[in-house]
Amino acid sequence: MNVTSDRVKSLPPYIFSRFQQKKKELEARGVDVIDLGIGAPDLPTPDFIIEEMYKEAKKPENHRYSPYKGCKEFREAVASFYQNRFQVELDPETEVLTLIGSKEGIAHLISAVTNPGDSVLIPDPGYPVYQSAVYLAGAEPTHLPLNPQQGYTPAFEQIPAETLKNARLMLLNYPGNPTAATAELDTFLKAVSIASTYDIALAHDSAYNLVTFDGYEAPSLMQVPGAKNIAVEFGSLSKSFNMTGWRIGYVVGNQEIIRAISTVKSNVDTGQFLPIQKAAARALTGDLTVVRQNNAIYKSRMEKMADALQKIGIHIEKPRGTFFIWAPVPEGYTSMEFADRLLEETGVIVTPGTAFGPSGEGYFRLSLSVPTDRLEEAVKRMNGLKTGGDRK
Ligand SMILES: *Cc1c(COP(=O)(O)O)cnc(C)c1O
Repeated sequence: MNVTSDRVKSLPPYIFSRFQQKKKELEARGVDVIDLGIGAPDLPTPDFIIEEMYKEAKKPENHRYSPYKGCKEFREAVASFYQNRFQVELDPETEVLTLIGSKEGIAHLISAVTNPGDSVLIPDPGYPVYQSAVYLAGAEPTHLPLNPQQGYTPAFEQIPAETLKNARLMLLNYPGNPTAATAELDTFLKAVSIASTYDIALAHDSAYNLVTFDGYEAPSLMQVPGAKNIAVEFGSLSKSFNMTGWRIGYVVGNQEIIRAISTVKSNVDTGQFLPIQKAAARALTGDLTVVRQNNAIYKSRMEKMADALQKIGIHIEKPRGTFFIWAPVPEGYTSMEFADRLLEETGVIVTPGTAFGPSGEGYFRLSLSVPTDRLEEAVKRMNGLKTGGDRK
């Protein structure tokens, strides 16, 4: 039987599974593997959110289908979060939509706004879901190369006019996965300006909008005047409130795009469990104390790891957001070779940059979302690793 669609067959191979296979083999041999390839927080969901969920789960009226666009409490909580955090006004009825995690929403956005063959500009390196979702929708990915000289923001002036004329949608992501790059409002001003000029829909993935430190606070794309005419912004509770498994996020902004995503969703899913939406509403309208505590933990882990990398000759620009470090591989290695060698010699898993697109060559991503003692153990082992010029 051959029933797999061409679209599914067109999906790139999943690089992460290669390392998971190796991890299993090493563990079977008794090696204590430390997995820094993980993309989810290790910290638990805060108690007050769990308590709220528990309380709401006891109410029979919460056991029914949710309204398609999400319950009023959650949409209002998102609007109030935007007001307080970014001084941006949103109409919870038409400019906010509840998502079953932002990944779902991003995937549905692509089929909501593109026709087969349309070009979608995606960051390279970038979160792998962008490219897969573009393929699944039958659209065409066009890479926006990001590099350290530009602070991992697109060189908007250098994008060929032809590329811009053909593009239907542009995706951005700050603070970014995998690069941990942060952006200032200026980047969003340029993006809105170019997208308006070329009539391109713009979508910003702000999954790490609250995961910031060192005094840095991430701006919102919605703070740019006129953004609502062409743009949407995705957000998630997964990373900021350690709620990856709960599956709760949102998209805000342009009414027409939101309506289109909502139409796709109403034919595919029927909303998130109401107690989860209500507990998430509580999280977004709270004082963010737990978020700040988490960020302090990530920051201290980041400092330790940055020092350890320095000792083995790997210099990084210290990030101000996310729980990732994006680092250059030592000279003489490809991303894949270095990740392989690190795993074989130290039992530490990192993700080769090429898992995130061709421009990731020469880099690797390391996650800080493992317990601090494990991170310290990884640091100790990496200190024993000789790099640079000693390649066998
Ligand atoms: C984790 C992550 C997401 C997905 O988050 P969910 O809301 O859990 O689906 C989206 N974008 C980026 C860049 C991420 O790292």
